[in-house]
Amino acid sequence: MEEQTLIVLDSIAFQLNGTALAGRVHLEKEDAELCCAWETLLKKVETIASPKAVFRDCTVDAVSGDEVIVEGVALKSRVMAQQLGGRRRLFAYCATCGTETAALEDSLEPLERFWLEELRMELLRQAIGALHREISRRCRIPKLVGMAPGSGDADVWPLSEQSKLFNQLLKGRVTELIGVTLTESLLMLPYKSASGILFAAEHDFAACQLCHRRNCPSRRAEFDSKLWNRSRQDETVL
Ligand code: SF4
Repeated sequence: MEEQTLIVLDSIAFQLNGTALAGRVHLEKEDAELCCAWETLLKKVETIASPKAVFRDCTVDAVSGDEVIVEGVALKSRVMAQQLGGRRRLFAYCATCGTETAALEDSLEPLERFWLEELRMELLRQAIGALHREISRRCRIPKLVGMAPGSGDADVWPLSEQSKLFNQLLKGRVTELIGVTLTESLLMLPYKSASGILFAAEHDFAACQLCHRRNCPSRRAEFDSKLWNRSRQDETVL
């Protein structure tokens, strides 16, 4: 079987909505000096930032009770096996805010560094959006859902699987192609990076539905006890 190549999105267009982002960082609009510093940082980030993503179209060889074999690589996740059901295709990916804004860090005050992290998060969001649109367009898939190692309760798809994603499904080329490195403790650098798999689906799914963590500011879906109970059983969800 012909091996699919890695597709790199390295010129992702982005827009930073200064008003919305100022609200997100609770900028004190009465403080002219702070507002000026905020505008200056926003312009610098707009000038140098370059969010990116890489993905690879992968063939699913087999799906069993608690693992999914993708091109000979065994991914350990009962939830993934259930959600994939009979599908034989998934997309391994990594997306990032990019490394370029690191050049700004040394000159920033602590508050500005906090702002920078928010701006990087927005860049990452837009990189992920561009990745979804590109896969949908190329492969004519109307709806994509995803999973990431370490998201949801610990056993949904363990973080330890991150190295399989980077080194095997993405061929060990993520650093070379988009600048994201994986540390020994399996953290991604830059921190505002995301990796995982995407696949076609008819229903919404997010690992947050299978996550007991309380008060998570990033939660995207309510905990779903029915889905969680089904995820403990040896059957497909579809
Ligand atoms: S609720 Fe928070 S910690 Fe849990 S999977 Fe969602 S984003 Fe991650």
